[in-house]
Amino acid sequence: MRHIGLHLRLNDSIMDAASEAVRLGTPIFQCFLINQLHRRLIKVDTHTIASLQALRPKIHTIYIHGSYWINLAGLQQRGNRALFREIELAKRLECSHLILHPGSAVGISNHADRIDALAHVLNKITKDEPAMTFILENTCHGNSSVGSNLEDFYHLKQKLERPEQVTFCVDTAHAHAYGYDLVDPDKQNDFIELIDQTMGLENVELIHLNDAAHEQGSRIDKHAAIGNGCIGESALKTFALDPRLSSIPLILELPILPDGDEDAMLQKVQCWHK
Ligand SMILES: [Zn+2]
Repeated sequence: MRHIGLHLRLNDSIMDAASEAVRLGTPIFQCFLINQLHRRLIKVDTHTIASLQALRPKIHTIYIHGSYWINLAGLQQRGNRALFREIELAKRLECSHLILHPGSAVGISNHADRIDALAHVLNKITKDEPAMTFILENTCHGNSSVGSNLEDFYHLKQKLERPEQVTFCVDTAHAHAYGYDLVDPDKQNDFIELIDQTMGLENVELIHLNDAAHEQGSRIDKHAAIGNGCIGESALKTFALDPRLSSIPLILELPILPDGDEDAMLQKVQCWHK
């Protein structure tokens, strides 16, 4: 049975998200480790750790999404304490899957050198944190960003010293916003082939199945509920159910919706699989 879950918002504790996942009956969920309202790292005490531990038999994987303050490709130049604080917190919670955007290598003009800078950072953190898996997600930004063009991941892989600790997440809304066509069936097929040629299907750990609020190539990172955006339900369903992708877990990163709509959206995607 394919694992399908939601990105869940939390207030003060990861237990907000974990309890919601249990209520929804989803074997996986994703969350940030920051309180988005106050933009501070959540507090974790021994009580939280014990409560989460008690729910773990019901939860297969917790995907921690790194905060947007982390600029991975820029770490070599500027350092970034946020990443190390979030890794420490994830480890205390016994969560080993950290999703990160590759970030942008500000000040480096040659794109191959930007990919080098990202590889350098990944080679250091995978060495320092052998128990963690770092899941790199495609983004939709241009300029000095790495990882919007999927080809970047192919070049990155050649430079990784511990590739088994670096996997990938495909975000459909980001791909669409960057300019990939997921709507035309032939172009969607080309896109899946490109995923295989660059990330490698066997290295894709997760799919962020999101609709996009803006048109293809807009470079605007704004998600829409499935069916309410520019990719549309039919194309997203075809993508999700493609046999090459159909065993990869799905996380829906929904915009804020009226009460009950989040549950309905999850059920819709679950129903595709019945
Ligand atoms: Zn995403």
